[in-house]
Amino acid sequence: MNYRKMGSLPWEVSALGFGCMRLPTSGIIPLVNERTAIEIIRYGIDRGINYMDTAWMYHMGQSEKVLGRALAGGYREKVKLVTKLPMIFVRKTADFERYLDEQLARLQTEYLDIYLFHMLNQVNFDKMKKLELLAKMEKARDAGKLRHIGFSFHDTLPVFKQIIDFYPWEMAQIQYNYMDTGVQATTEGLQYAHAKGIAVVIMEPLKGGQLASPPAEAQAIIDQAPVKRTPVDWALQFLWNRPEVACVLSGMGSMKMVEENCSSAERSGIGSLTDEENKVIDTLAETYRQKIIVPCTSCHYCMPCPSGVNIPQNFALLNNKSFLRVGKFSGKIVQWMVSRNYRHLAKNSRQLAENKENGRASLCTKCNACVPKCPQKIAIPQELEKVAAVFEKGKKIASLQG
Ligand code: SF4
Ligand code: SF4
Repeated sequence: MNYRKMGSLPWEVSALGFGCMRLPTSGIIPLVNERTAIEIIRYGIDRGINYMDTAWMYHMGQSEKVLGRALAGGYREKVKLVTKLPMIFVRKTADFERYLDEQLARLQTEYLDIYLFHMLNQVNFDKMKKLELLAKMEKARDAGKLRHIGFSFHDTLPVFKQIIDFYPWEMAQIQYNYMDTGVQATTEGLQYAHAKGIAVVIMEPLKGGQLASPPAEAQAIIDQAPVKRTPVDWALQFLWNRPEVACVLSGMGSMKMVEENCSSAERSGIGSLTDEENKVIDTLAETYRQKIIVPCTSCHYCMPCPSGVNIPQNFALLNNKSFLRVGKFSGKIVQWMVSRNYRHLAKNSRQLAENKENGRASLCTKCNACVPKCPQKIAIPQELEKVAAVFEKGKKIASLQG
């Protein structure tokens, strides 16, 4: 494993961090497959990962509990443990202790290495100030319940700078990948935070897995590149190449992913990509941008939907369909499989009763309950209309592509 500077903190962090938001699951209402999850988490630590990231909301609370059990038996001492205050659920100042104490119990630990305000945007930032939650953070730090203070971010560059300038943060977690250099915190925000000595940790390096499954045009660029890499490796090396990046989180759900990502991390280095390789990445980004219809990262923050719509799954199917190679026989088979997957989503209340939270786009009642929860600011009901139009009314996907 390669290790990197963690901003101004007095320890080094593994280039790869273990994100626990996409642990292996099984069942229709997905439950974390605990045995496999513990196995892959411990394997990652044995390979040198020393940074574990989770949150109250991940896997509806199961992530913190499973991680706590995975870190028993000596693993806790080998890692920096990070979780997040769920800002969208916090209503009053006293909620701070309630969540922190419950999270420490779930994680079976006396202290957190870093505690983050989860999902700071303008609304949550204003709430953080109004409820004086930073004072609570500092008090908890003085009491030994946490060591460093940070935040995870989902908004635009001006809001990011406002937050950065507000407090001497020790760490910031941002969404960044080779397609998102100009959205959310952007490259400018990454450099801004780094220049202030703040450790910047990257989430969504694969844009919710989208950069792992390239459309045919992007795969052709990868196949012709001067260096042979997988799509995932290209995306990760892009990040590790940058001096401003401390650690890259990957939400790993299988032993194969841990194995491959650890191997990538071992080959990583600041400034290690050539101009030619950087050009490959620029071309890949442009190709993806022309294909992706909905920038959903499958974070599940919008779930559950009161009408049972499986929002991320509907968007994933639409994006998958937009990637497919039209005209090739193999592409037609995959097209058919994507459409079949859509048909398998519940289409009425009877099917929903059997298949909870797995409904298709046309079940959306446009209640808008999901919209403020989406960090990507996706107009979910309107985008779901497009999904229904393509899969249920035969609208041509090309008419939706940029
Ligand atoms: S707007 Fe549609 S998808 Fe969103 S919560 Fe309401 S019914 Fe569900
Ligand atoms: S629609 Fe938004 S909140 Fe829902 S899964 Fe996608 S990115 Fe996350």
